[in-house]
Amino acid sequence: MHVTDNRSMSVLFLLFSLPAFLLFFSCEKDPGAPIVRQGTAMNTYVGVSIYDSGTDRGIANAWIDSAFAEIKRVEGMATDYSDTSQVGRINALAGLDSVQTSPELIALVRLGLHYGKMSNGAFDIAIKPLVKVWDFLGATPHVPSKEEIQAKLPLIDDHLVSIAGDKVYLPRRGMGIDLGAYGKGYAIDRAVQLLRRAGYKELIVDIGGKLGIYWEGTQMLDSTAADVSIRHPRRSGEYLGSFRMGTGAVSTSGDYERFFIENGIRYHHLLDPTTGYSMRGIVSVTLVTPDATWADALSTIVFLLGRDKGMELIKKSPGVDGMIVYESADTLALDFTAGFRRRFVMAESHD
Ligand code: ADP
Ligand code: MG
Repeated sequence: MHVTDNRSMSVLFLLFSLPAFLLFFSCEKDPGAPIVRQGTAMNTYVGVSIYDSGTDRGIANAWIDSAFAEIKRVEGMATDYSDTSQVGRINALAGLDSVQTSPELIALVRLGLHYGKMSNGAFDIAIKPLVKVWDFLGATPHVPSKEEIQAKLPLIDDHLVSIAGDKVYLPRRGMGIDLGAYGKGYAIDRAVQLLRRAGYKELIVDIGGKLGIYWEGTQMLDSTAADVSIRHPRRSGEYLGSFRMGTGAVSTSGDYERFFIENGIRYHHLLDPTTGYSMRGIVSVTLVTPDATWADALSTIVFLLGRDKGMELIKKSPGVDGMIVYESADTLALDFTAGFRRRFVMAESHD
């Protein structure tokens, strides 16, 4: 293992090209009888687990039903894969008319515009036309023609998104907003809040590998509530390592979540609004933050900003810890924050 110790530590190991998934978690403490339920929403799997001991299973299951319903409600409001959601209507009426929206949706859009400013435009909720052209969720995604991409670039500009009172308007035909980079995190926060209000004190909500954890009396990286394992970005079925965490959230944004390889080149779903192609430079970003909206948003923002500016932003964000994984020749290398370096245990096979 090659270790460079400046303010961040780099750990190098061999790189393979198999796809891998994101992360899983396991409960560290003997939970008695946890109630663990799984479903699907937001184009991925959803897991809701309650670990409180002495829980009435019938009541807990009813609350978990409500948590799933809340996640579906957020999806129904914010998805851009429907013409009837609020976002879908905004997009369908681009260049034609403004759309009346709920205060909650307006707040989410404003949050996205704020992320855009914070990232100097690398993060742009008006990315939808490009996402559509690339169609990473489609059956056979392929590289679009240069012309197709060029034609979309003038539409990718969140400064054009106009909010007046409770109305949102996209002034150009073909424009579209996409809140996919923080929608899962937001849904996690809503579900965690609902279960907390119901009185549960030990719970985990997992949407596609992004986690919201509430474990009373614990703090982010200072506890033993859950062991979170990070999937290896290039080796199917293997893990990069793991860490322990308590109340807080964790999100990974990576080039191995939605991608395809064409002519030996990896194309993935995190797009550079200025070129129209996948953003290069980082393999994955894993962040631990107090809430899941922020974890989801910031992991995407850091990915889009690149290593240097990304790590700068992580370090100046209060209560955020994590790591950036990147390629270095034929190896992977890791940059850690000091807090995460102390907590992250590399999987043995990488020594
Ligand atoms: P995932 O939710 O798949 O784990 P992310 O949270 O990183 O991954 O979000 C990825 C999504 O962000 C993409 O599917 C797309 O909808 C959206 N997106 C892609 N590029 C950008 C961008 N430059 N700015 C804002 N959102 C983006
Ligand atoms: Mg995200």
